[in-house]
Amino acid sequence: MMSDRHTDEVGVPMDVAGGEGWVRAPSSVSLEIVRRVDEALRHMYGPKMLAPNGDPVGELIHIMLTQNTSDANSDRTYAALRSAYSSWEAVAAASPSEIAEVIRMGGLADIKAARIIEVLSRIEADYGCISLDAIDSMNDDEAFDYLTSLPGVGPKTAACVLLFALGRPVFPVDTHVHRVANRIGLVDTKQPAKTQEELGAVVPEDIVYQLHMNMVAHGRRTCRARRPKCEECALRDECAWAIAASCKAGDKGVSEESVAERVAEGGRA
Ligand code: SF4
Repeated sequence: MMSDRHTDEVGVPMDVAGGEGWVRAPSSVSLEIVRRVDEALRHMYGPKMLAPNGDPVGELIHIMLTQNTSDANSDRTYAALRSAYSSWEAVAAASPSEIAEVIRMGGLADIKAARIIEVLSRIEADYGCISLDAIDSMNDDEAFDYLTSLPGVGPKTAACVLLFALGRPVFPVDTHVHRVANRIGLVDTKQPAKTQEELGAVVPEDIVYQLHMNMVAHGRRTCRARRPKCEECALRDECAWAIAASCKAGDKGVSEESVAERVAEGGRA
């Protein structure tokens, strides 16, 4: 299964703590446009089928290890951690310096080691063992609130755990999804947490996983932060950013690419 554990927030705290109970808060996002975006991206990147891994603790720790490193490196780091300890209880009982040595290859090792112990210890204190089975009996809002109450766990991480591990229809927003959603005009937000709040309220359950994965793919491959490849994009005819860039280019007699470069460098189209 293609995964998106890579986190964009640098350092710790891991992502911006969100408000409580807004997994499905009111939103002004157009459901019709969301469906059209999903359809266009499905044609570009293919359908995506969710196969939850059923391991919320593992997913949570894996996401924590993605901070400031690549997916491939975090995968190696997570594998090293799992092979070094026989249980999460053993990880929680180890010293931060010992864990830091095991995960050194993933960067920010001392910070991550301390945070991993902190999170595991908190789960153990709450439930008497290191398991998140208890969230099975919670609704999405309750589970989201519990996860975001853990040290350093923000809305995107919580949503990833709920979606990838448990198959809950909670829409995670990383920096790619945030950028794509704002360029298209689905939202007008400054922070990924706010984008997640608005999109999470309207993305239909049947496309939560597919739309998330394909928006991440789109942000990485086509709608890049710098020089987005609008000429290859199936959304260009209804993308607010591309339309604005095209109008500006027409007004001033300059190429669309030069406008794209100016915007990528901080100016407006
Ligand atoms: S048209 Fe350009 S800016 Fe708009 S979504 Fe596509 S690549 Fe991104």
